[in-house]
Amino acid sequence: SVHHPARDLDVPFHTSCQEPDITAPRESAAIVMLARNHEVEKALRTVISIEKHFNRWFHYPIVFLNDEEWDPEFISTMNETVSGGAKFEVVSPEEWGFPSYINEDRARQAINRQGQQGVLYGGLESYHHMCRFYSGKFYTLKALKEYKWYWRIEPDVEFYCALTYDPFVEMAKHEKVYGFTVALPKEPATCPSLFRTVADWKEQQDYPTTELWKAMVSPSWLPWPFRKMMSWFSHRDRHGDGWNLCHYWSNFEIASLDFFRSNAYQYLFEHLDRTGGFYSERWGDAPVHSLALGMLLDSHKVHHFEDIGYRHDWYYQCPANAPGGQLLQSEVLGEPAFTVAEEMKDGIGCRCECDGSRTRN
Ligand code: GDP
Ligand code: MN
Repeated sequence: SVHHPARDLDVPFHTSCQEPDITAPRESAAIVMLARNHEVEKALRTVISIEKHFNRWFHYPIVFLNDEEWDPEFISTMNETVSGGAKFEVVSPEEWGFPSYINEDRARQAINRQGQQGVLYGGLESYHHMCRFYSGKFYTLKALKEYKWYWRIEPDVEFYCALTYDPFVEMAKHEKVYGFTVALPKEPATCPSLFRTVADWKEQQDYPTTELWKAMVSPSWLPWPFRKMMSWFSHRDRHGDGWNLCHYWSNFEIASLDFFRSNAYQYLFEHLDRTGGFYSERWGDAPVHSLALGMLLDSHKVHHFEDIGYRHDWYYQCPANAPGGQLLQSEVLGEPAFTVAEEMKDGIGCRCECDGSRTRN
């Protein structure tokens, strides 16, 4: 097979089923799902799937987030299903909704315009709030303060392979910050000026123009100068404005809360938020996370969970060692991107089940 330096640095934490170590110390972590009351059935399917393939051994809590009060039915359904304890939180209006410095009338006009232009979800005000929330406010929620790690899930997600080790423990042990399963190109119409806005911010940090700015952007909290993975996302140099639109699909994330709570990330989010782009355009949290990671982290801090069988909507990742499964590499720079198993189309699926004592290979 072809030598692949990028992948050699990012091998799976384990390549066969482990006997799940049910007595080992856990990390300070939570599984988190934002959902609406009417999504209870799809949310339940996700929870059943993650319990079956992972959490029945590890018993992490699941924190459910909503911008409205929870239905008692949703609460009782999840309480019966989650093995590590379920928590139900309501996000405050300051964290979910237009920020104070946005002109709401003009924002709504922009949203309507995006709806008319057919921008994906562009006409849905709630979707804009959701993207802004997951881009920044999510990380500073009081409800997550006690945790260092999160695993993000969504309604209508399926897992296929038993995860018989603790991904939080492995992430910590290997000094990883962000883990993903699927990466894919963004719809360009949702974020025409996002890359330019991020790049401008980056240049301000790289070349501080005043003493005050230099003092604010102290190397004590910003990796400075930036180098990192921008080339992963960009075809051209830093003046070329040429992001290839590739981003980690954020409905699955296993990541460090501390990274996203850091001054560097929150300061970037604040800058993006103040430009109004979460409403004048429909910036998604996935490209915001991805570009920030590309700028602020060394590439070896990002981990591709190629061993996790995963589906959301029409996209799948089928691990290579699953019967009928195939991990496809992207055509973009030879990095893992778009992972889809052709076989999924025939309904064969990712059958990499194991009971914790049989090896998967
Ligand atoms: P998609 O995956 O991009 O198609 O977007 P989804 O509709 O799945 O939304 C992403 C996540 O945000 C899911 O977990 C949804 O349940 C959640 N979500 C989206 N809009 C809202 C909303 O208005 N209120 C709440 N509480 N959750 C939302
Ligand atoms: Mn979704």
